[in-house]
Amino acid sequence: MKRDLFEYDHDAFRDSVRQFIAKEVVPSLPDWEAAGRVPRELFAKTAEIGINGLQVPEEYGGGGIESFLFNAIVIEEIGYAAATLGGLQVHLSTVLPYFFEYANDEQKSRWFPGFADGSLVSSVAMTEPGTGSDLAGMATTAVRDGDDWVLNGAKTFITGGINADLVIVVARTSNDVNNRRDGLSLLVVEEGMEGFTRGRNLDKLGLKAQDTAELSFDDVRVPAENLLGKEGDGFSMLLNNLPQERLTIAVTAQATAAAALKLATDYVKDRKVFGKSVAEFQNTKFVLAECATELEASQALVDRALAELDAGILSAADAAKVKLFSTEMQARVIDRCLQLHGGYGFMREYPIARLYADARVTRIFGGTSEVMKSVVSKSLGL
Ligand SMILES: Cc1cc2nc3c(=O)[nH]c(=O)nc-3n(C[C@H](O)[C@H](O)[C@H](O)COP(=O)(O)OP(=O)(O)OC[C@H]3O[C@@H](n4cnc5c(N)ncnc54)[C@H](O)[C@@H]3O)c2cc1C
Repeated sequence: MKRDLFEYDHDAFRDSVRQFIAKEVVPSLPDWEAAGRVPRELFAKTAEIGINGLQVPEEYGGGGIESFLFNAIVIEEIGYAAATLGGLQVHLSTVLPYFFEYANDEQKSRWFPGFADGSLVSSVAMTEPGTGSDLAGMATTAVRDGDDWVLNGAKTFITGGINADLVIVVARTSNDVNNRRDGLSLLVVEEGMEGFTRGRNLDKLGLKAQDTAELSFDDVRVPAENLLGKEGDGFSMLLNNLPQERLTIAVTAQATAAAALKLATDYVKDRKVFGKSVAEFQNTKFVLAECATELEASQALVDRALAELDAGILSAADAAKVKLFSTEMQARVIDRCLQLHGGYGFMREYPIARLYADARVTRIFGGTSEVMKSVVSKSLGL
């Protein structure tokens, strides 16, 4: 069905992103997967075609675009190419919104030009070895000492944790044990701060080209001017940004499932078994017809949410519904498309194998499917 979100400017931008990914990303992906990360130079290259600065205000060298649709196009084109660039996506669509919303003027002039020209890359560190879904249970602490916050703790599973220059660290700044939510603050830790170390680049099932790291903070003195937003407001700042983060994951799920359908449709036409193409079996046609139908339904939901996000009215519960639906759809569709590849689908040299491995985590990060159901059920008064 025709999508009605995009106009001429979007289409032109989409063309340039598609060409960039075909030339600069797809051929290098196997090398980046082997290295466990993308090279830092990639961020300068994406900045050159305007990707990094899309939403950075013009006075700092960016495009000054408020709409999220251009970001969505970047995510879609990466997915359609059966690629994943998690570090870039998280930097652009999950972390930068915190800076756009909460940075003060001094912080803007310090960091925004680097975001626009690709010299600064960021990540966000919420999850800890002991707590993920229950964000309010985190144990990392920051204690005020003179003009600094003294930060102690450990984070894990941090996307972009190796490549990032700036890490927004969520830390407990209040000791009030009865108020777990109001005592959290966001501190921007910079590369080179004493006591800040990056641990292992974790060995994952999928998303091989994305660095995902353990980070540790041992008496790191973070200057007070690196506090983002208001002290103690961290939890509500996180909640405020979660709808966009979840929609970003839904857009990835949608685009990669669409890529799987295309790969399977092409493959079954070529592959011959029992003297005819796999496409000729009624089972194949029905399976792919079901996939196409599921994709269409999910696309309608994702597009509605993209419009609501731009209008500033996407609720937490609706974003949770979209993430839940599209990521569960992604799992079903990619699994069926892999099945139609037979044994070749299990070989990593076939992109469907990468899609399958990479898809597993979308039902986990950004809040698990179970957590999405909790959010939705709360909105039902349950
Ligand atoms: C590849 C990858 C990248 C990531 N990137 C980042 C990042 O950049 N920054 C960051 O901060 N974090 C990141 N994460 C962490 C991710 O957000 C967490 O893994 C996720 O929120 C789940 O937390 P957990 O792993 O601690 O699981 P747990 O919270 O320990 O969950 C275990 C199980 O319990 C279930 N469960 C939990 N709560 C409930 C409930 N209320 N009701 C029913 N069931 C429940 C879960 O659904 C799950 O099945 C990343 C994770 C991965 C794998």
